[in-house]
This record gives sequence, structure tokens and C-alpha cells, in this order.
Amino acid sequence: MTRPDSVVVVGGGLAGHTVAVTLRSCGFHGRLTVITQESTDPYDRPPLSKDLLAGEPIQPTLSPHLADLGIELHTATAAVGIRPHEILTTAGRFPFEAALLAPGLRARRLPSGHGAPAANVLRSLEDAVGLRTELTTGRRVLIVGAGLIGAEVATAAAAAGCRVSVIGPDLGPALAAVPDSVHDEIRGWYDDCGIRLTTGVQVLETTHDGVLLSDSSRRAADLVIAAIGGAPATAWLHGSPIGLDPAGFITTDEHLRTDLPGVYAAGDAIAWPSARYGRAMHLEHWHHAADSAQIAARNILGANETYDPLPYFWSHQLGHSLHYIGRHGRADPAEIRSDTRSGRAVTWTRGGRPTAVLALDAPHLVRRARAALQAADRPEIGAMQ
Ligand SMILES: Cc1cc2nc3c(=O)[nH]c(=O)nc-3n(C[C@H](O)[C@H](O)[C@H](O)COP(=O)(O)OP(=O)(O)OC[C@H]3O[C@@H](n4cnc5c(N)ncnc54)[C@H](O)[C@@H]3O)c2cc1C
Repeated sequence: MTRPDSVVVVGGGLAGHTVAVTLRSCGFHGRLTVITQESTDPYDRPPLSKDLLAGEPIQPTLSPHLADLGIELHTATAAVGIRPHEILTTAGRFPFEAALLAPGLRARRLPSGHGAPAANVLRSLEDAVGLRTELTTGRRVLIVGAGLIGAEVATAAAAAGCRVSVIGPDLGPALAAVPDSVHDEIRGWYDDCGIRLTTGVQVLETTHDGVLLSDSSRRAADLVIAAIGGAPATAWLHGSPIGLDPAGFITTDEHLRTDLPGVYAAGDAIAWPSARYGRAMHLEHWHHAADSAQIAARNILGANETYDPLPYFWSHQLGHSLHYIGRHGRADPAEIRSDTRSGRAVTWTRGGRPTAVLALDAPHLVRRARAALQAADRPEIGAMQ
């Protein structure tokens, strides 16, 4: 494709912001428009659960400001459809020569039983600001989902003096197949923070005074927060020329091109074919959003770069840090290694080669782990399922 004169970006999250900034830094001087349904400038989400909810006076706005780069930002404007060379929005039509779709995820909701109040969720700045005021001393806060965001929200609620419970089937996909000793250690983190953790059971719905569990028991709470993952915010693309997989992720090729010529996609809402893992992949992590956006921007301008990253995420929860890189299968043997600088790492292997590393309180091990995984790179390393 020749270099376009105008680019429209849908989504003002990390991926949308990164695409726009990268286009400018790569010398794109044409008309550049970002459309976002939120009413704010693009902002970063990780500080919402870590800092903002904990009462830190932070400003998560992403820099640089798009206006400073001559980028038009249309807030409170939702894309509702796409046709060749035209995005349809709640504020009219936006013609484009190239477009980038980065609508991200919307938080999954918990069913409400018999007109009970809906559980709260945490995906947006607005959610975080609202939740912060709800976390007051002595309140019984019940968090549904013990994954990364559930654990981070629990941390903030406990620090605010709430009486916190976390309920979920397990500790989330990131901690699947960790050795028993590590599993027990992480459960101990909850105890240390005075948080009651219940696993092996699911929450079915909210009730008027708490939640109903899959073992038919009930748990009372003053505030219920659902941290049960997200689904791609792509309902507006149904029936359009953009391909979606059965879960609604936007399907791209390895260069992040969608089915519609001139239209690329990046961030949490995409599924792309990974040669590294031999299957279509989707990730919901910060580095994936930023890295896929940079590659998509360069490809919009005529490059032909392939996107096939080593998955990586971090989390700060319950007074500890987690860093995970790679992807392990449930059958991959795990080995725990302690480091002289006090952290620990779990390394999974297959055929003697590392497939993934989880560093606990050991961020300094991430670079070494990345190098080891890159050295071991083989397309036949399978995905974790
Ligand atoms: C609370 C929280 C904490 C996190 N912490 C970590 C962490 O510690 N480590 C980590 O690796 N990752 C973390 N993540 C994940 C990381 O923030 C995401 O991977 C990243 O934000 C994805 O960026 P995105 O641009 O693809 O999507 P989003 O950030 O979701 O942005 C998408 C934007 O598009 C807008 N949009 C959607 N549909 C439309 C439409 N039809 N029209 C116009 N606009 C639309 C949305 O409103 C949103 O503004 C966290 C996420 C959350 C929510």
C-alpha cells in the first residue's frame, strides 16, 4: 500500500494512543484523527487498580498529548460501523485512507439475580474514581475473581480498611499450573493482608445482600466488585467486512492487517496468527497493546513487520510483584529457583528448553528470562490450554 494521506484511529486507549504517536514519530504529517467513546484524553489503565484505587493522587493521562502533535481527538464519540474508506460514528462519518481499530475490551458483567444491584467493575478511569469513594473503613467488600485485577483491587480495598473477601474458581489463568509451594505462598499473601480467599467455587449472581455461589451458599457483602475478565468491544463490527473470531476478537494477519484493505488493528481486541505458538493468539496485557500498536503504525506507513511477541505482563498485588514471560503448558515441568537477591522464579520447560518464567518479587530476573526464552525459541512450542 502507498503511504496514506489520512488515518483514522478507533479507540483512545493505550493502543490507539501509541499508534497515533508512532505515526507522527515515523514522519506521518497527514490528517490523523482519534475517535474514542470515553470523554477523557487517552490514559493508562494499570495505575487505576494499583495507585488510583489506593488513593494515590495520580494523573494517568498518557503523554504526549495528542493535540500537541496535531492529532484530532474526538472524545465521547463511538464508532458504530465501518465500510470501505469510512468509519460511521455517533458524531457522523469519518472518511479514511487507512484506519486502525483498537477498541480494547469491556469488562465482563456478573448476572444480577431478581433485580439485585449490579456488581461494580473496573475497566475505566470513571469506574476507578467511582469505586475509590466506595472503599471505606469497615465495609464488607467482596471481589469476584482472584486473577490479577481481582488481587490488585483486593489489595487496595484492604489498605483502605475494608473487610475484604475474594472468591473465584482459582487464582486465574496466569497462575495456572504453578507448583504447589508457590500456590500456597500466594494464598499466604492474602492471609498476610487479612483478606479471606475462597477458591474452588464460582459466584453465580449478585443478590440483594451479596452473592449466590455455585455450591448454593450465599455470601453477604456491602459492595460486590466483579473482576472476571473482559470481552472484546467489537459488537459494532458485527455484520461489517471486518472478520471476527467466535469470541469477537478482530482477526488480523501476522502484519496486523484486517480483512478490509487499508484497515489494521492492535491491542487487546485482536487475535493474530502466531508462528511462535502455531495458533491464533490474543493477549490482554500492556506490552502487547503498545508493541502491536507500534508495528501496526509502521505497517500502515508501508513496512511489512511481523508481530509475534513473547507474551509478558506484570502485576503488583498484596505487597508483592509478579512478572510472567512466555507461555507454559499445564504438562510442562516446573522448577523453582531462588535468587540471591531474595526473589524466586518458576521456570517451566519442555524438552529441556524453557517455555515460560514467573518471577516473584524478582523484577531483575525478567531480562535474563527473556534472553533465555528467545534463545529457546521454537515454533513448535505449544500454547497453554
Ligand atoms: C485496571 C487495569 C489494570 C491493568 N494492569 C495491568 C498490568 O499491571 N500489567 C499489564 O500488562 N496489563 C495491565 N492491564 C491491561 C492493559 O491496561 C491493557 O492491555 C491495555 O489497556 C489495552 O489497551 P487497548 O488500547 O487495546 O484497549 P483499552 O485500553 O481498553 O482502550 C480501548 C479504548 O477504545 C474505546 N472504545 C471501545 N469501543 C469503541 C468504539 N466503538 N468507538 C470508540 N471508542 C471505543 C474504549 O472506550 C477505550 O477507551 C490492566 C488493565 C486494567 C483495566
